[in-house]
Amino acid sequence: MKENNQERQGKLMSEQPKKVAVFACSGIGKSLGSVAREIGYELTERVRPDTTVLTCLALLVINDPETRKLITENPVIAIDGCVLDCAKKSLEANGAKEVRAYQSIDFFKKHNHLKPEGIAELNEAGKKLAALAADELAGVVDELLAEEAKNV
Ligand code: SF4
Repeated sequence: MKENNQERQGKLMSEQPKKVAVFACSGIGKSLGSVAREIGYELTERVRPDTTVLTCLALLVINDPETRKLITENPVIAIDGCVLDCAKKSLEANGAKEVRAYQSIDFFKKHNHLKPEGIAELNEAGKKLAALAADELAGVVDELLAEEAKNV
């Protein structure tokens, strides 16, 4: 049976080499927030399933010890839906080791023929935008892990 992200997070604590933890903002009521979440799924389930783990941002709000350990011992990618940067700021405020931060609007600016619409269900353009963004973030995952490997 396919391992889900939560099971992967649990295993991650004892695994070497490290993985990249991915957090998307909650993005309620905004299409670009939904794009941020979709990028997280695309990156961790399709593009780099063996080297990333997607985790709930809200676990930081309740001071979950495993999530704190995850972000202080592994490189992190934050994907936000707007300029408020909730994911990035939450991660930094909780002592994340290294955060590479992105906003879904940046990917839309690069691929502005793909206008995301919809919130609960993104339109096809929004899904395609998320897939392209995840493809671009694959290189960031590889780079972060290569840096980790050098520091072992
Ligand atoms: S970054 Fe923007 S879209 Fe995302 S949770 Fe914060 S306010 Fe909402």
